[in-house]
Amino acid sequence: MTAPELRARLAPAGERLAAWLYPRRCPFCDALLGPGAPFAACCPACAQEERRLRHDPPRLPQSEHSFSALGTAAGAYYYAGAVRHAILLCKGHGRPWYARELADLALIHVFGAAPAKAPGGRPVWQGPAGLAPYSAIVPVPPRRGKDRTALPHLIAKRLGQVLGVPVLAPLRVARELKPQKTLTREERLRNVRGAYAVRPGTDLGGKRLLLVDDVITTGATVSACALALLEAGAVEVAAFCLAADEELPKEKRTPAQGGQKPQERQDP
Ligand SMILES: [Zn+2]
Repeated sequence: MTAPELRARLAPAGERLAAWLYPRRCPFCDALLGPGAPFAACCPACAQEERRLRHDPPRLPQSEHSFSALGTAAGAYYYAGAVRHAILLCKGHGRPWYARELADLALIHVFGAAPAKAPGGRPVWQGPAGLAPYSAIVPVPPRRGKDRTALPHLIAKRLGQVLGVPVLAPLRVARELKPQKTLTREERLRNVRGAYAVRPGTDLGGKRLLLVDDVITTGATVSACALALLEAGAVEVAAFCLAADEELPKEKRTPAQGGQKPQERQDP
């Protein structure tokens, strides 16, 4: 057995031990996850909210986004309510460990993995034997700061562990980028055009890539990243996000919201 194979075999046991020392928590409300936690990744009290916010089917509609250079794009949730709250806590609000439970829920709902047997375990993906779904997983790089602590990287890492696909970080931000959330749709498209590049010397020839971001809004960022990856030789790029920023369908709105766009929770 090679060293990476041995590490891969021992890692789930290490994760279970870590979860025993530092019990896993519900990403939506911070309650401790007990043995009966739905999908081993959220608490029973949050199960209804988790179901309500699922993006079902996961494929993101072209009518809501401006995708280009991408094969498909999928999202696990709508960017609203408890999901939005959890993502904001992961990003710069001191709770990066929720990324693992959020990624596990996505692995179960979007990629068809079987839930872990208990919190702290790993979901099990039983895809076609010997046929990896992608050559590699590529996180969208952060506008600034370290790649490895950014939420897209944390999600990509967990997806890679469960799907058995390597995570590569070939993308970099090639020039100054304004924060997308401050911009209109047209300004977002202009802001990211040509803003991402592949690190010199990277050969992505023939690779089928899964590009991962935390939230997809207009689709401008993932499209710009996909274009850079294709120019470096990738044959296909699909995008995946934890949450899509789209208007909630009527049936997903709570009765108290009277069919209107829901009031968001206060940001952390
Ligand atoms: Zn909860």
